[in-house]
Amino acid sequence: MSALYAIQRVSVDLPLAAGLSAWLPGGGPKLNLLEDVSLEIGAGEIVGLVGESGSGKTTLARAMLGLTPISGGTLRFQGAALGPKGSFTALRRHAAMMFQDPVASLSPRMRVAALLTEPYAIHGITRRRTAADLLAEVGLSPQLATRFPGELSGGQARRVCLARALALEPALVVADEPTAGLDVSVQGEVLNLMTGLRASRNLGLFIISHNLAMLRHVSDRIAILYLGRMVEQGPTAAVFAAPLHPYTSSLIASEPQPDPRRRRADLAIRGEIPSVLHRPKGCVFHTRCPKAADICRTTKPEMRQLAPGRHVRCHLAEPPLP
Ligand code: SF4
Repeated sequence: MSALYAIQRVSVDLPLAAGLSAWLPGGGPKLNLLEDVSLEIGAGEIVGLVGESGSGKTTLARAMLGLTPISGGTLRFQGAALGPKGSFTALRRHAAMMFQDPVASLSPRMRVAALLTEPYAIHGITRRRTAADLLAEVGLSPQLATRFPGELSGGQARRVCLARALALEPALVVADEPTAGLDVSVQGEVLNLMTGLRASRNLGLFIISHNLAMLRHVSDRIAILYLGRMVEQGPTAAVFAAPLHPYTSSLIASEPQPDPRRRRADLAIRGEIPSVLHRPKGCVFHTRCPKAADICRTTKPEMRQLAPGRHVRCHLAEPPLP
């Protein structure tokens, strides 16, 4: 059975001289934001994508919905290729995005009721759910329908974004940092709401975050992105129990521990993530990797499958112990 959404060997390049790219041979110099990224999201599955700032998480989310053009590879939704004219417009009827800044993503001059029903007008749909019905589904009072986005709390704005995303009964929701800036208790409410919708609607959820603890809690599978390269992916429990990539090991080791003595100093990530303008040759992680060997400085590692459902991009990674 094909995945709900399949990303296959996708690259995204950004022209460095955008205004001149049409005049320069080969389009001129480019900044490579993503390279050879593959990932699948199934119906009713929650897939988490983790990575530091600058890793390319948001670029990938935007590329999935056609908001940023891809330079190579393929995107497929429900088995059909995306990219031919109009296909992303059709996709947006079935896949919605929750942007990182909920208030900024909502038009400040529209009341909540109009924001919630706007997707019907955009897609020419006459059979509509009411704003009150959509607000109820995300646990909000119908009285909020008359408010403007600037009058909502952070948690309310996040729920309104989710309600708007749900208006078209999507099969997939892409959520970029859905809990950023929220109090811990409100974070829990938003996540419970999203996981409940997955169960009741068989909704596929692709959650992008730098919050490893949150993704560990909610996602079925997890993928790790570093400097535009997917370095590991697999079932969440298996990845946390036995990470295969040194970067994943470092991220997990850096999670807050109740007992600070359990922190693994030997796995700590060294230094800052390099700029994409100066991406290291060979393995992109070699400048920070505690296990780097000579081959890592010269040769790009390929993604390898080392166990069922477990993929890793590292020369030295070995299969997990049975
Ligand atoms: Fe570290 Fe080398 Fe593996 Fe890259 S390929 S993660 S530098 S051991």
